[in-house]
Formats: sequence, C-alpha cells, structure tokens
Amino acid sequence: MAARLIDGKALAERIRSGIADEVRELGEIGLATVLVGEDPASDIYIRLKHKAATEAGMNAKDIRLAGQTTEEELLEQVAQLDDDDTIDGVLVQLPLPEHIDEARVIRTIDPIKDVDGLHPLNFGQLVLGRPGHVGATPVGVMRLLEEYDVPLEGAKAVVVGRSDIVGKPAALLLLHANATVTICHSRTKDLGAVTREADVLVVAVGRASVIGPDDVKEGAAVIDVGMNRGDEGVVGDVDPAVAERAGLITPVPGGVGPMTIAMLLAGTVKAAQYRRGILAFPGA
Ligand code: NDP
Repeated sequence: MAARLIDGKALAERIRSGIADEVRELGEIGLATVLVGEDPASDIYIRLKHKAATEAGMNAKDIRLAGQTTEEELLEQVAQLDDDDTIDGVLVQLPLPEHIDEARVIRTIDPIKDVDGLHPLNFGQLVLGRPGHVGATPVGVMRLLEEYDVPLEGAKAVVVGRSDIVGKPAALLLLHANATVTICHSRTKDLGAVTREADVLVVAVGRASVIGPDDVKEGAAVIDVGMNRGDEGVVGDVDPAVAERAGLITPVPGGVGPMTIAMLLAGTVKAAQYRRGILAFPGA
C-alpha cells in the first residue's frame, strides 16, 4: 500500500498565517540575515526567508557581504546586530567562506537572538532538555510528526546525518520525546540494517537516493530533509519508490522545506517574546 503523503506546504501555510496574527499583536519584529559571498543555493534560501518574513509583517534586514569580507569585519557586523534594539532574530547563513571561523562567528551572536539555535548556550540547553532557540529544520520535523500523530514514545527513531543544523538537534528532540534514538553517519556500517529497524526515519544527508525501499520498515514514518539539486530539479535523499513501503512520507519539495521557513518565523516571534520578557529565556 502506498504511503500517505505528509503535506508540509499546507501545514506551513497555516502556521504562517497564525504567525502573522502574532506579529500584529506584538508590534514591530525584526529579523536580520547575513550572507557572505555569492553561493547560489544560500541566495535562494535567503530570498525565501525574507519573502516569508515580510509577508508575516516582520521587518526583514538582508545584509549581503562580499566573499572577501574578513572574519573581523563579519564579527563587527554581527555585534552591531546584537546591539540593534530593532532586531529580534539574527541568522548568519552557513556555510561561511573557508577563511572565516564559523564557530567564532556563531559564538558572537547574542543567544537570545540566535534563531538558528547554534550558539553553544542554546545547543547546551537543548542537550539538557530545556531548549530555548532550536534550529528551524529540526523543529519543523517534529511539528510534522506531531501533526500526523506519529507515536514517538518508545518508538525506534533513526536519524541519518549528524550535522549541528539538522541531524544532532533532530535526534535530541526525538530523544526528549521519549523515542529510542540511533544516529547514523558516513561511517555507519550497514546503514540499511539500522534504518530498517526504524519506526520513524529522519534522513538529512545531502545525497539523492541514499535510502531505498529495502532500507525502510513497512509502515514507517519517513521524513526526508534532503534537498539535492540535479537535472530534474530538487530531489530528496530518499528514493521516491520508498513511498510504496512507508506508512507516511514527506515529499520533496513540499515537505520539510516549507516547514523550515515557517519555523524560522516562529523562532523569530519567540526571540521577540524572550526579548520583551513575555517568555523566560532558558539559560539566561
Ligand atoms: P551536512 O553535509 O552538514 O551533513 C550531512 C550528514 O550526512 C553528515 O553527518 C554525514 O556524515 C552524513 N552522511 C554523508 N554521507 C552519508 C552516507 N553515505 N551514509 C550516511 N550518512 C552520510 O548536511 P546538512 O545536515 O546541512 O544537510 C543535509 C541535507 O538536508 C542537505 O541535502 C541539505 O540541503 C538539506 N537541508 C534541507 C533543509 C530543508 O529545509 N529542507 C534545511 C537544511 C538542510 P559525517 O558526519 O560522518 O560526515
């Protein structure tokens, strides 16, 4: 039996209209993004984020710096945004050019404005189970699982990919939801043997068809985070034939992608609420 498709686009639209109402109530909310260099994929993501933020009634500040920008110049820019009272959320688009120390830049973002959840304070709070800001993609993954009533308590969850932006935080959120979590990566031996055990499979690798139909348990919920640009447009990490075996599956596009944008806006509203003292900021 073919899997039910998870409609991330529809859920994201609903969330975004709710966010527009919250923005109206809260008043001025500012989201600043910083892009260094001219990576075409990053340019597309930034455009989508700005369009969504503007549509939700936020003030979106699009800062573009040349690829030769020095680390000190970027740190200075981030510090200015930290000090700018009109800005609630700060996002530095990754990856940064090689001559810049990403970790140092991330540490410079004020944790209360760190909507990507990458500052060590936010990451630490997530590990401790008292999350503040958490990255938009893993939060979007959890929101999709919740929307489709996927049971997590006691479920076997496998996350393929261990990046700071997707795999690790997704695994931690699943753990906090009481799933039994396994994290796989490029050194995992016999990946298929591990993923076939999963009731919930989250794939964030960046390689088309890394998961095929034989790698998935009958009836599993499969969340495909991957976005790989090829001749046929954007495809995920999961072979579309997996839909014949899975119980639930996200399409690419139209699954996790739109949710990432919606949850970034939700994270920016949260930052505004932390900054205005409406919500207590964990770890402060
Ligand atoms: P990274 O490149 O940072 O991480 C990829 C992970 O996959 C690494 O942990 C790597 O292992 C692992 N990996 C690589 N090859 C294999 C393999 N053959 N078998 C098992 N694991 C493997 O990528 P990101 O996490 O940033 O992104 C992953 C994908 O998700 C990309 O396609 C990206 O475009 C997409 N993405 C989509 C978003 C959305 O909104 N839909 C948002 C963010 C990302 P190791 O650690 O050992 O190197």
